[in-house]
Amino acid sequence: MEFSLSARCQELQAELTQFMDDHVYPAESVYEEQLAAAGDPHAHPPIIEELKAEARRRGLWNLFLPHKTEWTDGLSNIDYAPLAEIMGRSPLASEACNCSAPDTGNMEVLTTFGTAEQQERWLHPLLEGEIRSAFAMTEPAVASSDATNITSSIRREGDEYVINGRKWFISGARHPHCKVLIVMGKTDFDAAPHRQQSQVLVPLDTPGITIHRDMQVFGYNDAEGHVDMTFDDVRVPVSNLLGEEGGGFAIAQARLGPGRIHHCMRTIGAAERALELLCQRAHARAPFGKTLAEQGVVQTWVADARINIDQARLYTFYTAWLMDTAGNQAARTEISGIKVAIPNMALAVIDNAMQTYGAMGVSQDTPLARMYAWIRALRFADGPDEVHRQSIARRELRRWAP
Ligand SMILES: Cc1cc2nc3c(=O)[nH]c(=O)nc-3n(C[C@H](O)[C@H](O)[C@H](O)COP(=O)(O)OP(=O)(O)OC[C@H]3O[C@@H](n4cnc5c(N)ncnc54)[C@H](O)[C@@H]3O)c2cc1C
Repeated sequence: MEFSLSARCQELQAELTQFMDDHVYPAESVYEEQLAAAGDPHAHPPIIEELKAEARRRGLWNLFLPHKTEWTDGLSNIDYAPLAEIMGRSPLASEACNCSAPDTGNMEVLTTFGTAEQQERWLHPLLEGEIRSAFAMTEPAVASSDATNITSSIRREGDEYVINGRKWFISGARHPHCKVLIVMGKTDFDAAPHRQQSQVLVPLDTPGITIHRDMQVFGYNDAEGHVDMTFDDVRVPVSNLLGEEGGGFAIAQARLGPGRIHHCMRTIGAAERALELLCQRAHARAPFGKTLAEQGVVQTWVADARINIDQARLYTFYTAWLMDTAGNQAARTEISGIKVAIPNMALAVIDNAMQTYGAMGVSQDTPLARMYAWIRALRFADGPDEVHRQSIARRELRRWAP
């Protein structure tokens, strides 16, 4: 593989690093203050809009989109990887640069499968950062890591689809700018297992949609929300179908490859920040007559973190390069591989970083506890570790089948 970063990527890397130093890190405490003052965990602090305007001014906007379109030149996955890593260092950066999940996946789906009308109504305002979106697949009643289990129904009645079902952990639906959901359900319960599902665009204010509660993650009520919601005879025009009837499973697969690698790239950035915090604390704290940095056990944590982060980054770069040169399908073993390896690597680094901070490590006074909670949740989101391991193992075993 080609390891060098393109000139364009290096320019953007420098610009983004400057933006993080000048605007994003200083905005983190402002964001917390504004959120607390609003008295609503799902408020949209004004500092985010200021960051968005500044990111856009610097050309740090919609960097995730790998397609050349009328709106963007499109970066390759390998060019985007180091940029997503930088954004992953702060919980504010992705939204500031209009690169946050689940919008990125939804925008890619709309770019690839959307009709001109769907793109006009939903993709353009998403690319402009005017609205946000959510993706609704998981259901409490069934093991949703196997998407063929989904039971929500999307029944055609004349020129409309009628949607019924219950979904949960739907991220982003509480964002005050969230206007549209991509809902996955079954249009044909009798078709072959991978042809039963379809995806439809559903405006969030459609009658029949009820948000019942926020699902917490380790007790955190995330600003964008992970909601438990129902759809009762929700009606949308048939023109809201994405792609073709029965094509929902294939769209979900197409969406997940880039989504997973983006999560991994950002997670490497979070691990780097945790290591930085660990080292700073190790120099500053001195129990029993010497600094933590002088303790062999802490040096082992630091060394292992450096080794494991660098391995993880190269594995991710390799996966990105494979996606760019051979396609997402050809890279599926590697995409599953990084999806298992990188959150687990980052959790170990963050865990040791929290340990160096003592009690403070699990409190709100460092970003570590929230980082840990989110990355632990990533071991389920976009496919649990076991499912990814299963698909890697199946392919590996198939090569040696008698
Ligand atoms: C913070 C967060 C945000 C999320 N955001 C969204 C969202 O925006 N939209 C959305 O639709 N969903 C979302 N999800 C849901 C997520 O995608 C699902 O949790 C995930 O797909 C697993 O489905 P499940 O929870 O039904 O677990 P199940 O399918 O019930 O699986 C439970 C466990 O079974 C085990 N398992 C499964 N398969 C195998 C196997 N083959 N071999 C061995 N063990 C296995 C795994 O350990 C797995 O964790 C989110 C989840 C979290 C935690």
